[in-house]
Amino acid sequence: MIKQLLLAPGPTPVPARVRAALARPVIHHRTPQFGELFGRTREALRELFGTDGDVLMLSSSGSGAMESAIVNCFAPGDKVVVINGGKFGERWLELAKMYSLEVVEIAVDWGSAVRVEQVEQALKDHPDARGVLVQGSETSTTTCHPIEDIAKLTRERDVLLAVDGITAVGVYDVPMDRWGIDILVTGSQKALMLPPGLACIALSERAWERAKSVCQPRYYFDLARERKSQAGNSTAYTPAISLIFGLEEALSMMKEEGFPQVFARHERNARATRAGVEALGLELLSPNDPSPAATGLYVPEGVDGKKLHGYLRDKMGVAFAGGQGHLKGKIVRLGHLGYIGAFDVITSLSALEMGLRHFGHKVELGRGVGAAQEILMSALPD
Ligand SMILES: *Cc1c(COP(=O)(O)O)cnc(C)c1O
Repeated sequence: MIKQLLLAPGPTPVPARVRAALARPVIHHRTPQFGELFGRTREALRELFGTDGDVLMLSSSGSGAMESAIVNCFAPGDKVVVINGGKFGERWLELAKMYSLEVVEIAVDWGSAVRVEQVEQALKDHPDARGVLVQGSETSTTTCHPIEDIAKLTRERDVLLAVDGITAVGVYDVPMDRWGIDILVTGSQKALMLPPGLACIALSERAWERAKSVCQPRYYFDLARERKSQAGNSTAYTPAISLIFGLEEALSMMKEEGFPQVFARHERNARATRAGVEALGLELLSPNDPSPAATGLYVPEGVDGKKLHGYLRDKMGVAFAGGQGHLKGKIVRLGHLGYIGAFDVITSLSALEMGLRHFGHKVELGRGVGAAQEILMSALPD
């Protein structure tokens, strides 16, 4: 037997308390019992999203909520500015094109964040733009875009800001109402510590207004219909009941720790991971705008990324993520979001050291681990 550890940026490990909740007997969804569970969960989600509005739960993976954002808030021919700095920026781009939006693309080097001035310029050049689509954390490049500053531009214009927060919500503070985000999306298998299959989406009041006049074909993802049902603690269709049991438990765990402490833990673990990677002399994928959700690093010259990845997973039992798109085989991404503690970071770096040594790269064992320990010891709360 090889003990398997999941240290990828999604899916992420599911804690025992959440697994126990997932295993509860399924109850019927048209009952007061489900209504109460749903109501409590909606309330906790509002807190996490930092909104007084409704956070809707949808039975789909995160991309379903991204698609729902497009079909509810943008009509064919609407012009949108898409920040494309990785695999998930590409997803916004593909979705927008699929629904016949007119796309103004800001292409950003993978591993860099968009600069606010670029967004400002695009909005000046295209005063008819109706939306900006961006990632809060571009998981494929382990990079964060400056959402708070972009929101300052969109909220004073008639431009909806849609944020894919799938590895941002629950990782760092994304206060939707305070920043003025119009559409915020997340998925269950990242910071929410659940299996895949549930997505959450919240809209600002002006996004709900916009949705009224948007004619795009939509049925399952008709958010106005969902909003009406969910306001009464019910859903338009059969909800993912077990996942909602799990979500309530996961949110309870996060609230017991405290949301600010959850965010601080992610920041601390990310910092320790980066220190470890740099101490090993490896190059970070996103040195300047790193995400607290995951750390990407270039596989050193002479090591086959695909083989390294497979060896770590199958022989050592540590599953990281590789690269997507043109970074396939060239990078490793160490996930540190969700149910992750200091010693998962230590395990990550330790496995990385041993894996690289196995493939002949010169590594001083313990060097990365030691650098991470220094950070963790100075940053851990008393
Ligand atoms: C994982 C992820 C997605 C895709 O979500 P699915 O649940 O696979 O549909 C989209 N955006 C980001 C930033 C992600 O990390």
